[in-house]
Amino acid sequence: MSNLKKSTFVFSKLSLSRLVGVSPKIESVVKRALELSEIDFMVVEGVRTKEQCYINYGKGRTASQCQAKNVPIKYAQPNLPKVTWLNNPLASQHVSGKAVDLVPFPVDWNDLSKFRVIANAMKAAAKELNIKISWGGDWKTSKDYPHFELA
Ligand SMILES: [Zn+2]
Repeated sequence: MSNLKKSTFVFSKLSLSRLVGVSPKIESVVKRALELSEIDFMVVEGVRTKEQCYINYGKGRTASQCQAKNVPIKYAQPNLPKVTWLNNPLASQHVSGKAVDLVPFPVDWNDLSKFRVIANAMKAAAKELNIKISWGGDWKTSKDYPHFELA
């Protein structure tokens, strides 16, 4: 059953700064999740600017691919690995402040079991607060383990 022990983890100033502007609903879930979590985690992204969307979309795409989606061609970086598969480069829930990306701290992108621990804490917190969220790790295609958004 759910583990109600309160952890001693606290968000760094950097993590807190990345929660600025996100929906108060998802912010409250993230803060409660850190109290419930068995491992420490940090916020790597909250609200995403239009420019950051363009930067992300340009990774792994040519100038003409960018142009086709109204992304200025200066953002094209075809030699980098692709990081987003959005059909509309600006459609991310991060743009409207409805999503956050969380990673284990110390940062470890490779241990998926740690992302699952964070997801369990996020789901428990969301349930407690009666807020519906969706985890990118539960998505059927192109899984996004750090990603959580309001459902
Ligand atoms: Zn995300």
